[in-house]
Amino acid sequence: MQLSGRVALVTGGGRGIGRAIAVRLAEAGARVIITGRTAAELDATAAAIGATAVIADLASRAGGDALVEQVRAIARVDILVNNAGIAESASLERTDDAMWDRIMELNATAPFRLTRAFTPAMVAAGWGRIVNISSNAGVSGYGYTAAYCASKHALVGATRALAIDLARTGVTINAVCPGWVATRMVDEAAARIAAKTARSEDDAKAALAAMTPQRRLIEPEEVAHTVAMLCDHQARGIHGQTIVIDGGQVLK
Ligand code: NAP
Repeated sequence: MQLSGRVALVTGGGRGIGRAIAVRLAEAGARVIITGRTAAELDATAAAIGATAVIADLASRAGGDALVEQVRAIARVDILVNNAGIAESASLERTDDAMWDRIMELNATAPFRLTRAFTPAMVAAGWGRIVNISSNAGVSGYGYTAAYCASKHALVGATRALAIDLARTGVTINAVCPGWVATRMVDEAAARIAAKTARSEDDAKAALAAMTPQRRLIEPEEVAHTVAMLCDHQARGIHGQTIVIDGGQVLK
């Protein structure tokens, strides 16, 4: 794979899955721009791979608009990876409007706005790649996660619809849907489970891994590999798809 000459924007690229994607795309030759709120993580990742770091809080329209402006001043984006996201869980009664709005804004609305902002230049260039990091919660339902599942389903829905709109432009759009991945997000989920049950965090994590037929957590690099594959020229026919990477947890 050869991505030299391409510019990739990876949201949430300072740690976890986003960091692995940034590393992989840089290895493939792309110039990488990473964003997030935590300067120390962004700076460490940027220094490791020669990326450009841009601080941005995507929890609001203003934060997204500011990011678009800053990135446009740096380069034209050829590859957009909408990866930044949050996971919170609660019962129906405890899922208040603020939690619903917070999750929908970051996981679904922000990716849509960034896609709307950066796609016209890709279309004009006749080449582009948009990869939305959804979740297996974007194709299935899980307990206590109505807001998260709704946001990830929304991302998959937008991906499928935009695939029709973009079909003849040279721009592909796909959703990658991981299951439990070994990142801080899973650490936090295990901590929440441990706090509410008699289990240790390690036992809670083992229980999450046991939910999958492969009985293991996915590594961030596995997700990054698929994202990079989607950016390849030979993947230009893969369009509007939801690629699930979860050890067989969701069998369609
Ligand atoms: P993570 O380690 O918690 O990383 C989340 C990333 O999103 C961080 O870089 C974070 O950076 C960024 N972010 C969070 N809030 C933000 C905000 N308001 N504005 C801008 N950036 C923000 O989790 P991860 O596992 O790598 O998750 C990456 C993506 O994969 C998410 O969309 C998640 O839903 C999805 N996913 C994860 C799993 C899993 O099991 N880990 C499974 C399926 C899907 P800052 O905190 O610095 O802003």
